[in-house]
Amino acid sequence: MRRLYAAEAYDATRSPDSHWLATAPPLAAECRPLEDPVRCDVAVIGGGFTGLSAAHRLAQTHRRAVRLFEAGPIAWGASGRNGGFCCLGGSKLGHEAIARRVGGEEARRFADAQRAAIDHVAAFLDRVGVDADRHSRGELVLAHKPSRLSALRAEAAHLESQFGVEAEVMDRAALEAVGVSGPEFHAGLHIPFGFALNPLTYARALAAACAQAGVVLHPHSPVTDWRMDGGRHRLRVNGLPVVADRVVLAANGYGSEDMPEWMAGRTLPALSRILVTRPLTAAERAAQGWTSALMAQDSRRLLHYFRLLPDGRFLFGGRGGLAAGEAAAGRSHSRLRADFDRMFPGWAHVETERSWSGFVCLSASLAPFIGALPDRPGAWTALAYHGNGVAMGSWSGARVADLAAGVEGAEAAIPQLMRGPLKRFPASRMRLAALRAAYVAYGVADRFL
Ligand SMILES: Cc1cc2nc3c(=O)[nH]c(=O)nc-3n(C[C@H](O)[C@H](O)[C@H](O)COP(=O)(O)OP(=O)(O)OC[C@H]3O[C@@H](n4cnc5c(N)ncnc54)[C@H](O)[C@@H]3O)c2cc1C
Repeated sequence: MRRLYAAEAYDATRSPDSHWLATAPPLAAECRPLEDPVRCDVAVIGGGFTGLSAAHRLAQTHRRAVRLFEAGPIAWGASGRNGGFCCLGGSKLGHEAIARRVGGEEARRFADAQRAAIDHVAAFLDRVGVDADRHSRGELVLAHKPSRLSALRAEAAHLESQFGVEAEVMDRAALEAVGVSGPEFHAGLHIPFGFALNPLTYARALAAACAQAGVVLHPHSPVTDWRMDGGRHRLRVNGLPVVADRVVLAANGYGSEDMPEWMAGRTLPALSRILVTRPLTAAERAAQGWTSALMAQDSRRLLHYFRLLPDGRFLFGGRGGLAAGEAAAGRSHSRLRADFDRMFPGWAHVETERSWSGFVCLSASLAPFIGALPDRPGAWTALAYHGNGVAMGSWSGARVADLAAGVEGAEAAIPQLMRGPLKRFPASRMRLAALRAAYVAYGVADRFL
C-alpha cells in the first residue's frame, strides 16, 4: 500500500509509548485476528472512533452483520493516542470562511453538529456506565500574546451568536484565580462545552459495546486488497477472502493512497506529539501556579494543548514534525519539550515519563468529509477531523453508518460543509512540502503577529 510517510509510522505491530496504554483498563470483549474466510453485510476498515461508532450503530440500530478489521490492536491509530479533548471542532476554517462557503444557516448546522458530537460521546459513556477519567467543564483558550485578546473577544461573540451561551473572557488575574498561570498566558476564553477523558478507555468501551451488539471485531487484521466483483466487495485480510455487501472505510490519517485508488492525494496526514510528565506534587503545581483541571490550548496557529491529568501528571501536546522514524521522533520530542519548559518554567526540572506521536488528518477543503467513495459503489468513508476527532469522529461514524444502512434522509442529516466533495490536494505530490511551508509561515505569524 502506498502511503505518505515512512513505513515504520504504519507498523501496527509496534505500539506507541502512550500514557493511555499504561493506564486504560483492558478491552472487555472477545476478539481475535481473522482466521477463516467470511461473508458479512458490512465490513468496517479501521478500529478507531469512526469505525467503532459506525460498526456499533450498524449492528445495534440497523441490525446488520458487521465485521470490523483493524490493522493493529483496537484503537491502535489516533483514537488510542490522542490528547483526550472531547471538544468543539473538526474544521480548520474560521467561522467567517465557513459562513462564506455554505451560508449562515448551514454554518449553524455545522456548529450544532459539533455540540451534538460532544453530547453523543457523553451520552454513550453514561449509557454504558464508563467514566473514562472524565474531567474539565469546558475548555480554555489562552492568549499567548496580549495582542490575541481581541481574537478571544471575537470568538466569545461568535459563541454567543451560534450557541446562545456566554463564554467568559478572563484577564490574567481571573485566570490566576482559577489556578491557571504561566509567562505566556496573558488572557483566556472559557468555552463552556466539552470535557477531557482517557481516549483509550473510551475507545475500548466502544469496542466492548460493539461486541455486545454483535459486531465481530478483528484486531491485527489489516485489509490489504479491495476489489469489486458482481456488485460485492472482495477484501483480503490476513491472506483470507472477505466478501461484504457494503464497506465503511474508517482509516483516516492511517489510510493509504491506493486502497482505493480514488483516495490518492485526498488526505494530508500530519503528526501530532504528546508528552506526559511524572506526577507533579501539590507543591510543584502551586509553584508553577497551575492547579486547574481545565483542559486548555494556546492561541497559536501551531497550537499547543495541555491539561493536568486526574492522577497529577501533566499532558502537553503540539506539532509532531514532518517525518516519522526514530531520529525524527527524537527531534520532535526535544522541540516539544523545549516549548513545555518555556511555557511552564516552574516544571523545567520535571521528567517526561512518556512521549508519543500519531497522525491527525487534514483535507484540502479544511473540513471533515462524510460520504460515498465514487469508485466503489456501496462504500462510504468519514474522515479529516483536523485534530478534533474524539467527538466529531464518533458522531461522523454514526452518520456514515446511516448512509451505509440506506437510512432515508441520512445524507440531509449531515451539514453541507461535511458533504464534500473530498477534493484532491492541488499538486498533491507536494503535500508534505506544502505542509512544511505552512508550518514556517504559521510559526512566523505566531511569533510576530
Ligand atoms: C497525538 C494526537 C493528539 C490528538 N488529540 C486530540 C484531542 O485531544 N481531541 C480530539 O478531538 N482529537 C484529537 N486528535 C485527533 C483524533 O485522535 C482523531 O481525529 C480520531 O481519533 C480519528 O479517529 P478515526 O477512527 O477516524 O481514525 P484513527 O483512530 O486513526 O483510526 C484509523 C484506524 O484505521 C486502521 N487502518 C488503516 N488502514 C487499515 C487497513 N488497511 N486495514 C485495517 N485497518 C486499517 C489504523 O490502524 C487505525 O487504527 C489527536 C490525534 C493525535 C494523533
